[in-house]
Amino acid sequence: MSFARVAAARAESRSFRTPRHCNPGFPSKYSGQALARGSHARGNDTKWCAGASRRHDLVQDLIGRRPAIGRVRSRAVFRYNYGFMDLSDEHIGLEPESSGARRDIRDLMLDELEAAVADAGERPYRARQIAHWLWGKGVDSFDAMRDLPAALRIELAERFILAPAVAALVRRSSDGTRKLLLRLADGEEIETVIIPAEDRTTLCLSSQAGCAMGCEFCATARMGLHRNLTTAEIAGQIFAAQRELGPGERITNYVFMGMGEPLANYPRLIRTLTAMTSEWGMGISPRRITVSTVGLVPMMEKLLAEIPVNLAVSLHASTDAVRDRLAPINLRYPLAELLAACRRLPIKARSRITFEYVMLAGINDGVDDARRLVKLMAPLRAKVNLIFFNPFAASELERSPRAAVEAFQAILHRGNLTATIRESRGLEIAAACGQLYAERHAAAGAGDPPSALEQEIQD
Ligand code: SAH
Repeated sequence: MSFARVAAARAESRSFRTPRHCNPGFPSKYSGQALARGSHARGNDTKWCAGASRRHDLVQDLIGRRPAIGRVRSRAVFRYNYGFMDLSDEHIGLEPESSGARRDIRDLMLDELEAAVADAGERPYRARQIAHWLWGKGVDSFDAMRDLPAALRIELAERFILAPAVAALVRRSSDGTRKLLLRLADGEEIETVIIPAEDRTTLCLSSQAGCAMGCEFCATARMGLHRNLTTAEIAGQIFAAQRELGPGERITNYVFMGMGEPLANYPRLIRTLTAMTSEWGMGISPRRITVSTVGLVPMMEKLLAEIPVNLAVSLHASTDAVRDRLAPINLRYPLAELLAACRRLPIKARSRITFEYVMLAGINDGVDDARRLVKLMAPLRAKVNLIFFNPFAASELERSPRAAVEAFQAILHRGNLTATIRESRGLEIAAACGQLYAERHAAAGAGDPPSALEQEIQD
């Protein structure tokens, strides 16, 4: 990174300096959680403190400088706190509380199931039978695996858990969108959204509880990163969603656009995608799966070399200055580097990279932005998805008016760029990433009586 960029980043981080009365100190393992919850518990006026201090931490981390680290924590611990610092590491991000305990059997790939079956003194073909029950049928008990010998079922139940994938809460929108809130074994809550359209039904999956990327327009970012999801937890969302489908309804497409940054939970994302796309698993075509990333450059390249899914890149800006603000990972992988990497990606014939662009009034929705975007996209096989900002309580950003979004699209079209407008779905159920969580915890933390929503979940 050039000196000028580091200097600019430092200046930005200074502007987010934490007021002394709410200095959180060095973030603990659950800093994001503590900050998010703490801020709610203290009431609305301190929310800004938590947001600003966390953002200060993030900016420091994203540019890879954090002077206090050496003195306070080892680099290993630092890596655990901020998953993207060393993305090639198998143990990135925060691990689930349960690590070290019995594993969920849906964390195992076929070869590992075969090893488990061999340990139990059974023949290898049993592994495929188990995989069929787990991934084909989506069962949530060992007893349901009817063609296995009883002794094997008992042994599996002793060695593994099989967490039931059931939504704790389902909210339905009049447009058919359903938002599921799943409660995990350690109390973490994640969101999954079923989005029906004319010709398809898309499932929007979460990859982390919370997120460390700090994008300004995103409700999940306000939580900080709580932890990575396990393979079983990511996949569990699919089975929970299947239970909510109506007769004749079938999930046709999968997008990793829910809570979290999928590429910051890389090993578990790959395992989930492997089970989803393998013939021993769910047999889903990778063309029906889209992984959306804020732009973790090294992992984008790695992902497409491993599994040819569709890639969506959250761009949101046409200049580094605006992108630094909206998506601070840009301090680490600036636009030129990100787009150069996109050019190198092995995109299949007739495929394109989707660039997501949340339209924010007065920030990134001008005529100049559109013209710059045309130039940036020109060397790429790209399509642009313009997204109406979905406002949430703690955000002061405003959505661009429809006229501005349409004018922006018209400029992209004139520049020979494919550009679609994503209509907001499920607005009245707070369907955008992290909003249902934020709403629940804001209500709970402010000392109000339980909201109707909480009543619902407690019942
Ligand atoms: N971390 C990944 C995936 C999760 S965010 C990524 O950054 O791509 C996926 C998409 O959700 C983002 O591109 C953004 O377009 C959208 N999003 C997040 N918060 C939003 C909001 N408040 N309104 C509209 N879209 C939002």
